Amino acid sequence: SKQAGKNRFQFYARDMQSDALARLQLEADLRIALERQAFSLHYQPIVEADSGELVGAEALIRWIHPERGPVSPLEFIPVAEDSGLIIGIGEWALREAARQSRQWRDGGHAALRLAVNMSGVQFREAGLPDLVGEVLAEFGIDRGGLMVEITESVLMGGSESMESRMRAIKALGIGYALDDFGTGFSSLSYLKRFPVDVVKIDRSFVAGCPDDRNDAHLVEAIINMAHSLGLQVTAEGVETAEQVAFLRELGCDFLQGYLIGKPLPAEGFEGMLEQHFLL
Ligand code: C2E
Ligand code: CA
Ligand code: CA
Ligand code: CA
Repeated sequence: SKQAGKNRFQFYARDMQSDALARLQLEADLRIALERQAFSLHYQPIVEADSGELVGAEALIRWIHPERGPVSPLEFIPVAEDSGLIIGIGEWALREAARQSRQWRDGGHAALRLAVNMSGVQFREAGLPDLVGEVLAEFGIDRGGLMVEITESVLMGGSESMESRMRAIKALGIGYALDDFGTGFSSLSYLKRFPVDVVKIDRSFVAGCPDDRNDAHLVEAIINMAHSLGLQVTAEGVETAEQVAFLRELGCDFLQGYLIGKPLPAEGFEGMLEQHFLL
């Protein structure tokens, strides 16, 4: 009836309003969190597939909200991107990862490679290469010590200034991993045009391996294609021994996932550093 329709509309309107308010509240809380540097990084190990040797880690941001407790980056990163707060948050994460890298390097893990996630919004800033250069110099991080993970959407934004920024950062000795590969609209032309070093197969595809034939074929195709372009491949979301065997068989270069190790605070990650071989 007309009345029911009207009520439904009011319900949606109220719902939308509370959504918008919740977002504004989250943005305000994020702003305070950034001022207080209330974020931390967790580290998830990345191993060489053949040997199981720990070769690197992905730095993943964590935020414990004073009232709500832990908030997923999947929830707050988009708000940080829309509000521009990601510029400051991303700078914090880069600096913190570099600081930690220095500490682990000094502690005898000189070859460990840390990967930091960067938003496409950060690449719109003309000052990004200078910032990265300053941070590398401040902590004395040498070539190959840091990687940057970007998603396909960064490449799709693909302006020439963005491309030259990417190359300027690469020239500082930073490699790129293309994150969540297969979920977006990347094409071979992107992989050729941009200076990508590693392709990370999204865990939604790894999840179906080896039993789901579509996933298995897709993963095989991505690995072969990447290798033929001279790129290395990391499989993310590795949770079972069957997946490890399957990915090794296909010649996948690196593995990451709960089976190898969950993301842990720096102190916890140090336990894995001491083990050296995780598979
Ligand atoms: P991502 O870059 O794809 O990171 C991998 C996510 O998968 C992480 O979730 C990780 O905890 C989770 N994961 C790893 N192994 C497994 C597994 O075996 N099984 C399952 N089910 N999950 C696994 P997390 O930490 O919640 O991060 C979510 C996303 O937030 C990240 O996805 C990344 O896109 C974004 N993010 C995290 N930290 C940062 C950051 O510092 N800056 C930016 N811009 N984005 C970040
Ligand atoms: Ca990532
Ligand atoms: Ca990923
Ligand atoms: Ca993913």
